[in-house]
Amino acid sequence: MAQAQPALIRYQVEIDDLHSHHFRVSLSVARPAAEQVVSLPVWINGSYMVREFGRHLSGLSARQGRRGLVLQQLDKTSWLARCSGDAALVLSYRVYAFDASVRAAFLDAGRGFFNGSSLCLRVQGREAERHRLQLGALPRGWQLATAMSASPDGAPRAFEAANYDELVDHPVTLGRFWRGNFEAGGVPHEIVVSGALPGFDGERLLADSQRICAQQIDFWHGDDASPPPFDRYQFHLQAAEDGFGGLEHRASTALTAARRDLPRQHADGLSDGYVTLLSLISHEYFHSWNVKRMKPAELVAPAHDRENYTRLLWFFEGITSYYDELMLRRAGLIDAPRYLKLLAKTLNAVAQTPGRQVQSVADASFDAWVKYYRGDENTVNATVSYYLKGALLALCLDLRLRQLGASLDELMRRMWRRSGAGRSTQAEAGAISEGDILAELSALGGRTLAAELRTWVHGTGELPVAELLPAFAVLASAEHAPWATALGLKLSEGPLTGVRVTTVLAGGAAAAAGLSAGDELLAINDWRIRRLDDALAWLAREQPFELLLVRDQRVMRLKLTPQPLSPLASQWSLHCQDTPKPKPAAHRRRLGWLDA
Ligand SMILES: [Zn+2]
Repeated sequence: MAQAQPALIRYQVEIDDLHSHHFRVSLSVARPAAEQVVSLPVWINGSYMVREFGRHLSGLSARQGRRGLVLQQLDKTSWLARCSGDAALVLSYRVYAFDASVRAAFLDAGRGFFNGSSLCLRVQGREAERHRLQLGALPRGWQLATAMSASPDGAPRAFEAANYDELVDHPVTLGRFWRGNFEAGGVPHEIVVSGALPGFDGERLLADSQRICAQQIDFWHGDDASPPPFDRYQFHLQAAEDGFGGLEHRASTALTAARRDLPRQHADGLSDGYVTLLSLISHEYFHSWNVKRMKPAELVAPAHDRENYTRLLWFFEGITSYYDELMLRRAGLIDAPRYLKLLAKTLNAVAQTPGRQVQSVADASFDAWVKYYRGDENTVNATVSYYLKGALLALCLDLRLRQLGASLDELMRRMWRRSGAGRSTQAEAGAISEGDILAELSALGGRTLAAELRTWVHGTGELPVAELLPAFAVLASAEHAPWATALGLKLSEGPLTGVRVTTVLAGGAAAAAGLSAGDELLAINDWRIRRLDDALAWLAREQPFELLLVRDQRVMRLKLTPQPLSPLASQWSLHCQDTPKPKPAAHRRRLGWLDA
C-alpha cells in the first residue's frame, strides 16, 4: 500500500502574546501557483452574518525560500503573492483574538479558543487538498481539545483535515479545563468545560447529555440500526459570567453558557438555567443531522467570501428548536408540565412579536444576514424569528401529522433518507429543497397538509396552535402579561441606569401614546419609578396614567391609556387537561406526543 504523501498546506499556530491576545500563524504552501491568492473567510458556517474576520489579521509577510515577496492586497480579505519556481510559499501573520463568542477566536492568560475561519488563510485553488494544523508549545498545565483527526505522522499537537472546509469545521479549545467522557450509540463523546466554578457537577452533565445523545441517535437511526454519521463527538463548553450561544460543527459543537447555569454538586432538581443549557446541548447535537449533513442546497458548497442565501432556515433552525426541548422530555429529563412551560414561553415570545404579521419565516431565513443577526430596536416590529416561529410551525406540523396517524419524526427520517446524507460522503449529498419537503409531506400527510405548510412558511397569518392543542388534551389559559409587555414596551431597568425604553412594540398602548426607544422613564403620576412593574402594581389594569420621561435631555409628559383587551396584555400558560376527565382520543394523542 502506498504511503500517503505529507499534506502540502501546513499551518503552524503559536501563542504569540497571551496578554495582548495574539496568535501567530505561519502558513506553508508547497508548490504555490505563480499568482497565488490567499484569503480569510468573511463569515463562519452556521452563523449567517458577514463578520469580516480579516479585520483582526495584521503583520502579514511572505517569502519563498530566502526571497521576501511583496504581497498585493486585493480586497478586504484577500492577498496575492507572485511566486516563481517550486519553493514553498511561507506566509506569516498575527491574529488578534479577543472575541469571547463561539464564532471567532479568543486568547488570554486563562484560555484559548479558535475556529480555523479566524486563523487559517484559505489557499485559493487548493481547498480540496489535505490541510495540516500544528499547534506550538502551550503554557505549562494547558491542554488541547479538538475533534480534528490527529496527524498520521504522530507528531504531538498535530492534526489533519481532508480539505479546507473540514479544517475550519473543527474548533480548538486550549487551557486548563475539565473534561469527561461517555458513550452513546457506540460512539465516544467528550465534554470539555472551561471556566466552571469548583462546585460544578461534571458527572451530572455527562449523565444528562448522554441521555440526550442516545435519544437523538435512536431518533435518527433506531429504525434501521444504521450508525451515526460521526465516529466521535466533542462538546466545547465555555462557562462565563454571562452569555449564551452555540455553534454546530460536523463532529463537535462550541457552546457558551452562564456559569450559574451549570449543574452544581449537592443540588437536587433542574434549575431553569440548567434546562436552558441542556436545550442548547440538545439543539446543537440535533444539528449534526439537521444542517450539518442534511442541508439547504445553497449551503452544500458555500462561498467563504460573501453571503449565502437560503429560504430554509425555518426548517433547519426552527425544527431543530422544536426538537431541542422535546428531546429533553423524551429523554425523561423534564416532565410534561415542565415541557409545556417551555412551549408556552415560545408561544408568548412569538405572540409578542408584531413582526410576525410583516415577515414570513421564508423571508426571515433569506434576510438573516442583515436582519436576524443585526437586530435593533425595530427588529421585533419588522421581522420574525425563524427559530421561534419555526419551532411553532414544527409543532403545528407534528400535531397535524399525529392527527393523521403519522408524526414529524417520520417526516424528518424520510427527509434524511431522501437527502442521501447518511449514505454518502460526497460533498453534494444531503442537499434538500422546499420542493423535497413538500413532496415527502404530501406522501406522508396528503396534499392538503402540504398546501397548508406552504401558507405557514410563506404567509404572515397566525399558526393554528390554539386550535390544535385541545385535540391533544392540552389547555391554554390566559394570564396578565407583565406590565411592560402589556403596554407594548421592552425595557432595560437597573439601579444605576434607571428605566430605559429599548423597544416600543407596534400596535401597543405605549406606541399609541408616542413613546420612543431611548426614552428614560422617570415617574408615573409624579411618583419616581425604580421598576415599572412595581410602580404600576398600584394601578388598575385599565387606569390611564401620566408618564414623566426624558428624551434627548428634554423632560416631557405623556398620557398613557392601557389597552387591557390588546393581545399584548395577556400571555398564555399551558396545562395538561386531566380534570375533568379528558376525551380518551385527545388523551391518547397527548401520550403519543409527550410521553412516548
Ligand atoms: Zn441552531
